[in-house]
Amino acid sequence: MTGEKNKNAGRVRSATGPTAMYPGWKPSPEIAARWKKLTAPKELTEEHIQEEFVNHATKTLARSAFNMDDFAAYQASAYSVRDQLIDQWNSTQMYHTTVSPKRVYYLSLEFLIGRSMDNALLNLGIKDRYANAIDKLGFNMEDLVEQETDAALGNGGLGRLAACFMDSLATLDYPAWGYGIRYNYGIFEQSIVDGYQTEHPDYWLTFGNPWEIQRLDITYPVAFGGTVIRSKGASGGFVYTWEPTERVVAVAHDFPIPGFGTKSTINIRLWSSKPSNEFDFASFNAGEYEKSVKEQTDAENITSCLYPNDNHYIGKKLRLKQQYFFVCATLQDIIRRFKKTGEPWSEFPKHVAIQLNDTHPTIGIVELQRILIDEEGLDWDGAWKIVTKVYSYTNHTVLPEALEKWTVPLLKELLPRHMMIIFDINLFFLQSVERRYPGDREKLRRMSIIEEGVPQSVRMAYLAVVCCHTVNGVAELHSDLVQKQLFSEFVEYFGAGRFTNVTNGVTPRRWLHQANPRLSALITKTLKSQHWLKDLSELAKLKQFASDPEFQRKWMEIKASNKKRLAEHIAAHCNVYVNPDAIFDVQCKRIHEYKRQFMNILQVIHRYEELQKMTDEVLAKQVPRVVIFAGKSAPGYYIAKMVIKLINNAANVINYNLRTSKYLQLVFIPNYNVSLAEIIIPASDISQHISTAGTEASGTSNMKFVLNGGLIVGTVDGANIEIGEETGPENIFLFGVLTPEVEDIRHKQTYGTGIKVDPKLDSVVESIRDGTYGQPAIFEPLLHIDTMRKVDACFQNKAEWAKKSILAAASMGKFSSDRSINDYAKNIWHISPLPPPE
Ligand SMILES: *Cc1c(COP(=O)(O)O)cnc(C)c1O
Repeated sequence: MTGEKNKNAGRVRSATGPTAMYPGWKPSPEIAARWKKLTAPKELTEEHIQEEFVNHATKTLARSAFNMDDFAAYQASAYSVRDQLIDQWNSTQMYHTTVSPKRVYYLSLEFLIGRSMDNALLNLGIKDRYANAIDKLGFNMEDLVEQETDAALGNGGLGRLAACFMDSLATLDYPAWGYGIRYNYGIFEQSIVDGYQTEHPDYWLTFGNPWEIQRLDITYPVAFGGTVIRSKGASGGFVYTWEPTERVVAVAHDFPIPGFGTKSTINIRLWSSKPSNEFDFASFNAGEYEKSVKEQTDAENITSCLYPNDNHYIGKKLRLKQQYFFVCATLQDIIRRFKKTGEPWSEFPKHVAIQLNDTHPTIGIVELQRILIDEEGLDWDGAWKIVTKVYSYTNHTVLPEALEKWTVPLLKELLPRHMMIIFDINLFFLQSVERRYPGDREKLRRMSIIEEGVPQSVRMAYLAVVCCHTVNGVAELHSDLVQKQLFSEFVEYFGAGRFTNVTNGVTPRRWLHQANPRLSALITKTLKSQHWLKDLSELAKLKQFASDPEFQRKWMEIKASNKKRLAEHIAAHCNVYVNPDAIFDVQCKRIHEYKRQFMNILQVIHRYEELQKMTDEVLAKQVPRVVIFAGKSAPGYYIAKMVIKLINNAANVINYNLRTSKYLQLVFIPNYNVSLAEIIIPASDISQHISTAGTEASGTSNMKFVLNGGLIVGTVDGANIEIGEETGPENIFLFGVLTPEVEDIRHKQTYGTGIKVDPKLDSVVESIRDGTYGQPAIFEPLLHIDTMRKVDACFQNKAEWAKKSILAAASMGKFSSDRSINDYAKNIWHISPLPPPE
């Protein structure tokens, strides 16, 4: 071989420094040409797929033809699909590096990805080829796909949104990166024991993870604690030196995300914490070896586990450490990439847009200000100008219990320099508020980033609003509440231009094409093209077939087969044989008071009591119903756990009544996750999205259900409203009070002026109270019984129902996450697509 030697060969590797670049080393033209030849992708014939499969089975896994099972075959396939991803990923990244466009960085503490193999095969357009190739080696692709464990690095809607957004960013060819944490334990696995939720750790990495690439070459130091030294700088001003007491290392793990029908493959970079190699000599010399080992394991603990709270803030120190660890490593990575351009800091906002998925990564704003001042030597104003052009923030909730407030003592202890900077940001902000509203101390108190109290705390949402150029809510109603309720004085102060709406969406690739392959095929055949998967508004063309009996028959036949598949899953996991001809009535989502699973179960119990009172003749005319619940409760959320127990106890009564069980069955399917959602959603006739008006920011499962031909029973809340605008009121069952009425009703209920609970409920509440269903429970019920009667009546007219189902699904163009991402790109990030050349 010719060419110069790699000067870095054999050099000592620092465990803390970034080792991603080897400055100065460039391959000679000969070496570069040789690499190019050796890495040129081969044509993906069935034979080549088989070669790669066998190669991974024998070399990567050390298996033989006589020692293979479905799991090994899954792994071998996965590694060979991953090779395809890496090829695309490399060429996408190389192209982005040469063009150096403005990129968006999507920062999220959660990515609820689910399984990757089926998705990768479909997005790369190589599923049939793989299935055929592997079939000839004696394996069935559908079985192999089932071997994969979910990457469940999220709680619910927020983490799933991040995953849908990555699929859209790749599909639409945007130069984008996702950043997050590689938790060793994802969201816990739920089982039901004696009717109660039981949690089991989700150690998802036991058998390795073929969908990530560990990047031992990409590591950054992260520090915590200590003190800040103030001294006089060369130019007379003060300089601040942070002397931390704890150091760890962040190691990158890359999850390639292929776009659908494009060569773009982007990246989610997840950080894992490792001990820094700087040996603790003090402890060692004092003979405290165990203490220094403990400090090392503490470092790895930072990214051990995902906090299992959804829409609820908890002030745990380790959680704050996770947040800072993640943004600190991420910013070093972003800055390293920017510095390759050689441009001055003033150009940073032309290359970088950073989106904060909720306030969880908000400390990253302060970290950038700190880096620019303390490390890069910019003055406050110069740094502030850059920081405020880069960041934007998505608000996900107006529920007060979900808003993050870190106490000042905790922030001081972990991040002393950041706490100083937050005080300064607040001081300068309040000084300008004072100039605008002189002497209004109450206003200063209300708008302060620091909440007074013992101890003081930092309102992270206010910090985000003050520092970000744009703040968005996730559905029209929610964005309205964000502006009128949560941040009204900030809207007045900064102007309405800082605030906007981007209604959420879901990716049709996973939530229709992958989860419901037969429906996807029917749509493609009917529209004579697959292009609707890249432009979901084309679904509207299905409307002309909504009354066509033949199309209705095919549409409903697919629904029926999806219901059979779900019935089999229920038989296997709940030991109940549900009637697949019944109406499937689903509520699956996190268990939360505001989502009102309790109201739903009351309605079911009421129906059960009515059925019992009926004569045989009346009973025979009833529309059979299967009610399906699924969802996890936070482990410490007592009331939510009691709702799970009540559902299971009610199921045990209802399913064993031989007279009525033909007409009403009830199941709680354990361990709701992305893979289970992919089975449940295509099988629903109706789904319940019945949050108290004004509490569900958007909801995204509502979109998934309608996309699969299921109708919504819902309150006038979140994205239900916009879904109803698209489908028309006849293809959605909305009920209940509007947001402005909720506070009035609460007031009247609490302080007792009128409004009596519907008397139809009296016996239900009584029967729960007297223990018919085990646990006594006293709650505040509001029923949606009338709506469910209407649903029953509609369901009896099969042709009308099919028409509603088709029209509703055909109206879902707006709710593709592609539309959401194009909104963000155009209105907030100001980035353009950059399709890789052919
Ligand atoms: C879509 C999705 C959610 C969000 O459901 P909502 O009903 O909108 O709260 C939660 N969990 C999983 C697994 C999902 O796929």
